[in-house]
Amino acid sequence: MTALYASGYAKLNLYLNVIGKRDDGYHNIESVMQAVTLRDDMEILLGTKEPWLIDSDRDDVPRNEDNLCWRAAELFFGAIGEDPDGLTVHILKRIPMGAGLAGGSTDAAALLRALDVYYDKRLSLDALCQLGAKVGSDVPFCILGGTAITEEKGQLLFPIIHEPQAYYVIVKPEASISTKEMYEQLDREGIPAANDTKRIVNGFRNQNVAQIAKNLYNVFEPLAIQRVPEIGKIKQQLKQHGALNAQMTGSGSAVFGIFDSLETAMEACDTLREKYPETFLATNGDFDEA
Ligand code: ATP
Repeated sequence: MTALYASGYAKLNLYLNVIGKRDDGYHNIESVMQAVTLRDDMEILLGTKEPWLIDSDRDDVPRNEDNLCWRAAELFFGAIGEDPDGLTVHILKRIPMGAGLAGGSTDAAALLRALDVYYDKRLSLDALCQLGAKVGSDVPFCILGGTAITEEKGQLLFPIIHEPQAYYVIVKPEASISTKEMYEQLDREGIPAANDTKRIVNGFRNQNVAQIAKNLYNVFEPLAIQRVPEIGKIKQQLKQHGALNAQMTGSGSAVFGIFDSLETAMEACDTLREKYPETFLATNGDFDEA
């Protein structure tokens, strides 16, 4: 039996706009996605000689084919034409679920990356991303990590190389939001006037966290605040505690504050955690370098 270890990192949408509806029923999006250090850890056992099994310390993580890891593994082994002779995946879940943090997608991405390394990189990065896109639209980004502009269903990726270090306090209110319902509401109410990624991307070019913070955007946020007013309150509290700006990620319900000071972010994290137990401190860089 072989044990592999992998980590899947949470994704934040620093910018998220919906461009229109596609003929296949999905939506074209334009987003700036950021991988951060809040992570799930996984142990992957190959050759267990037992039926496939997924389990987690959290009871609500799906344990069967509904787990994105299952589908990712099926596609991977199908693509390379191998049978692992039993697969067990243990997931230590830290990323809040149903939060817009791509928790399921990032686990699937971590599994794909780990399997590909173990099987001598038989699939190129491009092939791995194409396979990941079949599992979920955030999976290709989660495979690449870092910062990227993503377009269409999420499968077109343009990496942004200049990443100034920022600190994020991520808060998940108790309520979750269904991504499907958010898109349906947007279809009914219409997509607001165009916005674009230029300003936030310039913030990256200039290595300027304040400029990035000033140009956060999420088309779903006003709709989500109507449903879960707590989201608006969390945004205010993050700003009161020193965030340069705060915004919801994905279709919610998690909110993040962006900081240029680790110390201020730590203080804000401690304060908000008293009220919201699912509050986390993360960075796009390395805590040790702070
Ligand atoms: P996204 O940002 O991609 O919309 P999310 O962060 O809102 O995703 P997830 O944490 O991925 O949401 O969970 C959404 C649902 O996906 C869960 O309710 C769960 O049923 C399912 N799921 C499948 N695989 C996983 C996994 N490995 N971890 C967590 N949830 C998973």
